[in-house]
Formats: sequence, C-alpha cells, structure tokens
Amino acid sequence: MADTERKHWKHLYEEIVATEICCSCSACVVACPHKVLELNDFDPVQTDARSPFDNCWHGEEGCSLCAMACPRLDPTVDAIEALVHGEGVQRPYDKPEGPYRYKTLARATDERFLNRGQDGGAVGALISWGFDTDRLDGAVVAAPSQDVPWLDEPRLVRSTDELLATAGSRYTYCATPLGLKQAAAEKCKKVALVGVSCESTAVRQIAAAGIKRWTRNVSLILGLMCTETFDYEAFVVGKLRHELGIELEDITKINVKGKVIVTLKDGRDINIPLKECRPFANEWCHHCPDFAAEHADLSCGGLGMEGWTMILVRSERGDEYLKEAAAAGVLELRDAEQEPKALEVMMRLATKQRERVKPGDPHWQTRFPTIEIRKQFEAENA
Ligand SMILES: Cc1cc2nc3c(=O)[nH]c(=O)nc-3n(C[C@H](O)[C@H](O)[C@H](O)COP(=O)(O)OP(=O)(O)OC[C@H]3O[C@@H](n4cnc5c(N)ncnc54)[C@H](O)[C@@H]3O)c2cc1C
Repeated sequence: MADTERKHWKHLYEEIVATEICCSCSACVVACPHKVLELNDFDPVQTDARSPFDNCWHGEEGCSLCAMACPRLDPTVDAIEALVHGEGVQRPYDKPEGPYRYKTLARATDERFLNRGQDGGAVGALISWGFDTDRLDGAVVAAPSQDVPWLDEPRLVRSTDELLATAGSRYTYCATPLGLKQAAAEKCKKVALVGVSCESTAVRQIAAAGIKRWTRNVSLILGLMCTETFDYEAFVVGKLRHELGIELEDITKINVKGKVIVTLKDGRDINIPLKECRPFANEWCHHCPDFAAEHADLSCGGLGMEGWTMILVRSERGDEYLKEAAAAGVLELRDAEQEPKALEVMMRLATKQRERVKPGDPHWQTRFPTIEIRKQFEAENA
C-alpha cells in the first residue's frame, strides 16, 4: 500500500474515536513511538494537536503505528488468529464463544486467592505460580486506584503480595495494556496480561502489526469474559453513591450474577436489577461482539457460579501453562460439563453479544472478531 493510502492518526480519530467505536484499550497510545498520544477521560487524544481531527505530523512523515495497533480500525484478524492458534491452524468456528481446545472449571487451592478472587481465584493463582516458578517476571493487571475508590488503573505487579491486592473484578473500564509500557521500562522478559475481551484482542493486534517492542515479552494473555463495563461517574458515583447512598469505602465486593450484587463491610448484599445498570454501560461496549475474550490464551469467567472460574483453553501456550499449574497443585480442576447452567449462560451471553454486530452497520468490518463471521457476513450479503 502506498504511503498516501496508509491510515494514520487522523483516520483513527475520525473513524473510531469520534464515532465512539473506540474501546479505550490504549493500544494506540502504547504503540505511539513519538509519545504524542494519551488517554484523556478514556479517549485517545493527540497531545500537541490544534484540533482533534488534525493528523499527527509524524503521520505525515509516515508513521502509522497507532492506526496499525488499533483493534477496531482494520484489525488483521487472520494474523491475530495465527498468534492464538498457530500458523495455518484452522479451529472450528461453530460456537459463539469462539474457537478453543477444551474448557474446564478451576479454583485456586491457595485460600488467599480463593477467598479474595472474584470467582475461583484461578487468574490470580495462575499468575502467582508463574512468579514462583520463574515462568513470569511481571503481570500487567487492573489495580484499584489508591485515590479513587472503585476505579482501577493499569499496573505492573511483580510479586504475589502486589498481585493479591488486585484480586477480584471492578466493573469499570481499565486500559490494562497501558501497563505494557511499565513492563518494558522495567525490562520484564516474561509478562502476563489480564484484560477484558477487547484488551486481549488489542495486545494481539499490536503484536500482529509487528510492533514487537511492547509485546515481545508477553508470555500469557488471561482474558476475562465480559458483557460490558460501566462508566465510573454514572455507575459508581451516580448510582451507587448518590442514588443508593452507599459509601464507596464500605463496599467489599461488586459482582454480577444475573443482577448486580454490592456486598458491604457489614455483610449486607444490595441487589440491583441488571436492567437498572445497563444504561451506565460504556458506549463502546455496545459495539463489542466478543463475550468470551476469544483472542486470549486462557479465557476466564464466573458465568453465574459461586467459587469456580470457567476457563476456555485456546492456545498451545495456555494449554501447557494450565496443565503444568494444575499438575503442581495450584488449581483444582473439574469437568466443565458438571455445570450445565454455567455453560448455558455462556452460550446465551455469547450468542447475544454476537448479535450486537448489525449487518449494514457502517463499521461492521472493524468489529468482527473472527474471520469466520466475516466470511459468513460476506456470503449472506453477496
Ligand atoms: C469488567 C468485567 C466484566 C466481566 N463480565 C463478566 C460476565 O459478564 N460474565 C462472566 O462470566 N465473567 C465476567 N467477568 C469475569 C469475572 O468477573 C472474573 O474476572 C473471572 O471469572 C475470573 O475470576 P477469578 O476469581 O479467577 O479472578 P481473580 O483471581 O479475582 O483475578 C481477577 C483479575 O481481574 C483483573 N481485573 C479486575 N477488574 C478489572 C477490569 N475492570 N479490567 C481488567 N481487569 C480487571 C484483576 O487485576 C485481577 O488480575 C468480568 C470481569 C470484568 C473485569
């Protein structure tokens, strides 16, 4: 493609940011070698622009790394899938949760992770085992902010104690891939990344675009299944604090199990119907068809269960890592078929999420997570 045809910041801004398709994953900010992009209230912005629609002057000189890194602009889905499943490997696309090798239920045997984890504590236990066995020297995760309760920030953690402080889910958005910069700065060589669906894809897209500086050290992507994230001001401050009068410091856990369950320090649960919270979902989530984090090595979700994490094992790397951790006694595993209700929840949520992509949508091509769905769409619309 001639340079004039290549997409740059201007295209990324006009086609993705201004149209609110941007999922705020931070891939463009991470990839920018000139450090002229940053996230401002979850929107990527050019720090030295007169107008947001200006092209980055580095773009005029030929740099288009931000556009190449974006998982929503023109994702190179075939290259992403080769990174997950292996070059030339075709996995069947017969499921809305995307292709995987097998699934299993898991829970941490270490009570610290089991008790503090959102579901079975499997994500934390897997990373901690990686630290203990030198398989990992860092993990990029979402960590509760020191200053703002129930808001997360991307953080590199390097020890089990640091990791434990990040256990559990916060349902607001946190651009975890930004932490890859910290991992590179600290010269980490074997990093795990935890992120919701779009963040798992974002890291793969940066790698698939050949921008290795930030991803060559990523050894494991732990994806979190996700229907949506909530806007912090609207949900946490507006709904929980102001409307329901909950002091944010009193909340010990927020969980979504068919309804939003807010657990308080005194042991009380406040139940909020999910449909009351849906209006607080971030706009970009409405464009996301990927419930089950289909570009992760291991995709994890609670699916309405108590104390267990469902894991979809997608890549060879994920398979090896999980099997070795289980053999070392880090996880207790159970056959996924023993939880038919959870499987039904996964099928229902994943199917519903696929339907967010509407044929004829002007940006449909940017939101399709798999080649197979693209092909199906093209066949139906030929
Ligand atoms: C925004 C969001 C929405 C989710 N929606 C669903 C859903 O609809 N259905 C479902 O089955 N599962 C959903 N999950 C996944 C589920 O909540 C658990 O994260 C998953 O089951 C793993 O549990 P665990 O006990 O093994 O993880 P833990 O051992 O508790 O580890 C959790 C990890 O998640 C990271 N994390 C916490 N909050 C965020 C965040 N906002 N963004 C990125 N990383 C974060 C932490 O850093 C930690 O590393 C969602 C998770 C999030 C964050």
